Amino acid sequence: MKYISTRGQSPAQTFSQILLGGLAPDGGLYLPESYPQFTDADLTAMRGLSYADLAFAILSRFADDIPSADLTAIIDKTYRADVYAYTRAGQHAADITPTLKLEDNLYLLSLSNGPTLAFKDMAMQLLGNLFEYVLTKEGKTTNILGATSGDTGSAAEYAMRGKKGIRVFMLSPHKKMSRFQTAQMFSLQDENIYNIAVNGVFDDCQDIVKAVSNDADFKAQYKIGAVNSINWGRIIAQVVYYFKGYFAVTNNNAQKVSFAVPSGNFGNVCAGHIARMMGLPIDKLVVATNENDVLDEFFKTGVYRPRGSANTYHTSSPSMDISKASNFERFVFDLVGRDGVKTSALWSKVDAGGSFDLNTEGYFAKIADYGFMSGSSNHADRMQTIRDAASKYQVIIDTHTADGLKVALEHRDVDVPMVVLETALPAKFEDSIVEALGHAPERPAALDGIENLSQRFDVMEVDAVAIKQYIMDKTS
Ligand SMILES: *Cc1c(COP(=O)(O)O)cnc(C)c1O
Repeated sequence: MKYISTRGQSPAQTFSQILLGGLAPDGGLYLPESYPQFTDADLTAMRGLSYADLAFAILSRFADDIPSADLTAIIDKTYRADVYAYTRAGQHAADITPTLKLEDNLYLLSLSNGPTLAFKDMAMQLLGNLFEYVLTKEGKTTNILGATSGDTGSAAEYAMRGKKGIRVFMLSPHKKMSRFQTAQMFSLQDENIYNIAVNGVFDDCQDIVKAVSNDADFKAQYKIGAVNSINWGRIIAQVVYYFKGYFAVTNNNAQKVSFAVPSGNFGNVCAGHIARMMGLPIDKLVVATNENDVLDEFFKTGVYRPRGSANTYHTSSPSMDISKASNFERFVFDLVGRDGVKTSALWSKVDAGGSFDLNTEGYFAKIADYGFMSGSSNHADRMQTIRDAASKYQVIIDTHTADGLKVALEHRDVDVPMVVLETALPAKFEDSIVEALGHAPERPAALDGIENLSQRFDVMEVDAVAIKQYIMDKTS
């Protein structure tokens, strides 16, 4: 399988070639030349497979330049019950992404039972093992540089800790993450993990990462890498649980299922789109946003209008606080008939700070063929949804999942199962749960007192030159 760029101007590459990189040289995102197809007979054979075997059935079609035995070993090491152990009562860790029935035809798909209690572990854990494998094979090393406001940084660090050939330099805004998130990251004592607390806000951290990455000489010499949400390895790992969720709530392949996805960078729901393109019988893909509703606006109007970081709201579902959706280009490439010239023209407007309107050329009319629906949620909705879920279903959900559930209920068909993706456990966002319910959610026993562990981090100023020097010192 070869991978092409959404902007049509980069040479086709293999899976291993694109795994460690970010954007294609022409500024686009990589996608396979065509999506692997699963027939009715394939689906029947996949029904009932363990998570790891299902992952192999899917990932081997995308990562076809990794020998089967090696890929099997990587997958078996990644999707183990002891890694996804933070299950709710009545769920089995061996399912990796267990479902929880709320009522008839309404389910949660728990994606957040991994080490950092958010769905990003599902993909990041695989990436850690894939990176280590490819780097070892090629005798290479990498220094991953990233910026985080919480979930991405912790998922990356827990995936990369102790991995051969990999160091992680993670910038976060000093004293701006929750106490729990800070403790999760800073309590790691692994020598290959460097936490840098920047005296600034998240955007300052992101600007430093951009400045360092734009220095091509430094980037090459210090082998600076990234694990951001556009990484193709992360997307394919996420395709797997749509299949797992589908099989969990159906008995036969004639049934259709809808999924509701709390969305920010469009990475999670992009995987749902790809699962659908591969033949999984998905009815609707419901995109749920918070007050940062750039995606909801697009799916309602056909206008894509990124907001700029100055117009991004800080909300109580903070992992969805985005100004533009970095994976959205992948879906639009498919929507415009995989026309790289067209996609390139649209994003030249976006990259210049503008917007585009897909009504004018009739593309928006085709949205229905792809099953997309959308809605948004605000703080009051989220609090009410958390209260409703607690009283109606005796289940405590986090703020992001609440956005998903709120919008799911607006787009439900009585006879089609609706699966809401649970993207974080409530313990991760305690303060909001206390606000909604008057008491804190249960925290997994293993994480009790995590705030009291000794912390390992360095405080630095908003200064890209100083950060480069820091990386030079630590890698020499
Ligand atoms: C990252 C994240 C999201 C948004 O996912 P995208 O792939 O960026 O759309 C939603 N919820 C939680 C808890 C997250 O960490």
